[in-house]
Amino acid sequence: MKKSFKKVVAILLAVMMIVCSVPLTVFASDDANRANINLQFGDVSCTTTKKTVLKPRSAKMADYLAHSGLNSDKLTYSNGKIDGYVTGDFFTVSVLLENVTELSAAEVAIKYSEAIEPAYIIDYKGRGDNVTVAYMYNEVTTEGPHADFPINEAIPTQSGSALYNSTSTLGETSYVDPEARIMHANFAVQTGADSVSLTDSKAVLATFMFKIVNDQPITFSIDNTQSDPYETYTLGTIANGGKVEEYKTYAKVSEADVPALDFMGENEYNGTVGKNYTITFVNADGQQISSAEYKEGTAIVPPSLPATTHDDAQHYTYAWDKEVPATATANGTYTIIKTGAAHTWDAGVVTKEPTTTETGIKTYTCTFDGCGATRTEELPKKEDAHVHHYTWTYDDSKLYYNKLSDRCDGELVGTCECGDVKREAATNTSLLRCNSYALVLDSSLTVNFKMTKKNVASFSNVVVKANTAFKGEIEYTEPDKEDATYNQYLVGVWPQNVKDDIDVVAYSTMKASDGTVVEVWGPTYTRSVKVYTDSILGSATYTGPNATAKNKALATICVNILNYAAAAQVYSNTNVNELANAGLTDAQKALATPDVTSFETVKNYEAVPIDNPSARFAGAALSLEDAVVPKMTIALRNDVNINDITVKATVAGQTFEYNPVDDADQFKVYKTNVSGALGTENRYYFYFPDVFANQMKETIQFAVYDKSGKQISAVCTYSVESYVHQACGLSSSSANFKNLLMSIMKYGVSAKAYGEL
Ligand SMILES: [Zn+2]
Ligand SMILES: [Zn+2]
Ligand SMILES: [Zn+2]
Repeated sequence: MKKSFKKVVAILLAVMMIVCSVPLTVFASDDANRANINLQFGDVSCTTTKKTVLKPRSAKMADYLAHSGLNSDKLTYSNGKIDGYVTGDFFTVSVLLENVTELSAAEVAIKYSEAIEPAYIIDYKGRGDNVTVAYMYNEVTTEGPHADFPINEAIPTQSGSALYNSTSTLGETSYVDPEARIMHANFAVQTGADSVSLTDSKAVLATFMFKIVNDQPITFSIDNTQSDPYETYTLGTIANGGKVEEYKTYAKVSEADVPALDFMGENEYNGTVGKNYTITFVNADGQQISSAEYKEGTAIVPPSLPATTHDDAQHYTYAWDKEVPATATANGTYTIIKTGAAHTWDAGVVTKEPTTTETGIKTYTCTFDGCGATRTEELPKKEDAHVHHYTWTYDDSKLYYNKLSDRCDGELVGTCECGDVKREAATNTSLLRCNSYALVLDSSLTVNFKMTKKNVASFSNVVVKANTAFKGEIEYTEPDKEDATYNQYLVGVWPQNVKDDIDVVAYSTMKASDGTVVEVWGPTYTRSVKVYTDSILGSATYTGPNATAKNKALATICVNILNYAAAAQVYSNTNVNELANAGLTDAQKALATPDVTSFETVKNYEAVPIDNPSARFAGAALSLEDAVVPKMTIALRNDVNINDITVKATVAGQTFEYNPVDDADQFKVYKTNVSGALGTENRYYFYFPDVFANQMKETIQFAVYDKSGKQISAVCTYSVESYVHQACGLSSSSANFKNLLMSIMKYGVSAKAYGEL
């Protein structure tokens, strides 16, 4: 440091200590703009020959002065380079003081990098105004530096002393320390005045000249490495009349509790001292969060806004109702505003994979920053990889028919090996049934089960099965009879079984959805002969005092049937503890046909003889197993083949023909190769099934014909009554048998009487 400046500082310090005995830094205040130090770069001439080193040039000194320092030819410095300048070029750097209105003393030490070296101006070979620039490490043999541009000192005419010399108020003692690579820009009031006023609050402290010696970055920094803080950087200013206590002093941060000196735009500071303002913060729910006094211009630190929240439908963000300023400039109340918005769901991720047995979960997350809401969606069970193959059965557990409006179809049930079960309606199976019945009084007791055709129109190949305890199952692949309305199925009932149920079930097939044909069936329709007779005998229409003769005759038939059945039970020893007629009342019993007392016998094997017969009738009886069936013994001469004959039987004007080929059931071998009226004979039974109940007294005419249609036997006459008459007259006939025959006759008589009404 130059002695003159040290002296000034020493004087200042002495004055301050006397006046207030407090450290210099006490007076530091932040109520004024902090002093800035900036650098400004300039050319050394106005010509384009700036890069010519140590060569004569035509520029005049006056030109140089006009274009360096604070002149208008300012160069741009950035990123360690001076635009357009390369190694070997010369430039000036001026140290600017800004934001200072009154200056008493200053010293700033700026360290420069090794890319530049200090330079100076020499006169070249006595050419006077011609200027040559050199730098300190050049070899200079014949000329020394120009007297006004000493090595290591600032350019006088471009520095503070020159600027203010006109008023003789400032001394300038700036210099370069090339060993430490530091520019010292120093000022001090030299006239005894406290300070000088700075035009526009700025001044050039000093201007130095440098040469770029390599292409390393050209950098400058405030040097704070020196032990004497006042050797580092200090500024003394006086405002408002030059009171010592108003000095504003800037020193190293580590040594003074004041803002650091701003150098080249760093640490910009604009602190002011002002009023206090009340700043209040209010929550979204109206509750005050805080209310505090802020010094004018000081930073406002608002409370943290709540993080985003959410419910199922929306997320909510929080913001101040108006912008909170960075620093306090006025009273203010700031309220948190809660704003809801619908979630914006992402594409979702599967958080639980569905299996074939359990559903899965897909989770969606709101993409709004900070929301984090999630929602889940159920994923359906996975399809079984395999293809179901169903085995179908018919389930009749729900099947029933009560009436058309009260019925339930069965179901087709498909079962896959995987356990999957599929049920499908077996449509209209509740209609697949016989739905009415009647008793037919032909040679046997026959129940006619009827099925209304339109009920089963949707079914094809209907098969009916009738089950009885006494006959087992009878299957009907086609109806026995058919008319426009009904399919009819005839079930012959042995008289001793009139009480037994006949269970009739109709079967057909349906297609399941996969085309599989499944056998289905309808509800069981159960009836018996006794159900029929009971329905007649229990009805006043048939048994009441106003019953018609025809109806009354039917009631008589029913009583006779039950008596006939009971006699058959006794005769065949079938279920004798539950006789069919056991429940008859006296009134019903009285309806029975009286015993037949006189019989007519028409049995005659040769009622109309022929010449040379080769066949003859040799016996007559009744088969009573199933029905009342005349059983004729036919003897054939041994040259007559049984398969060549036809038996014709005529009853009540109707003729029936039977031959052993087509009607094998009606023929049975009795005896072969026996000796008889025709010589050697073969004998057969012929059963004639076409005598109806009302025809028991009718004469039947039998005759045998050969293949050519020629009659080969006499005409034989016979009747059921003939048998009854004969059998009842035999002492060998048991009472039970006689009773049975009598009941048959009475049944026949009543049937005939009914038919004649
Ligand atoms: Zn959301
Ligand atoms: Zn399966
Ligand atoms: Zn399967």
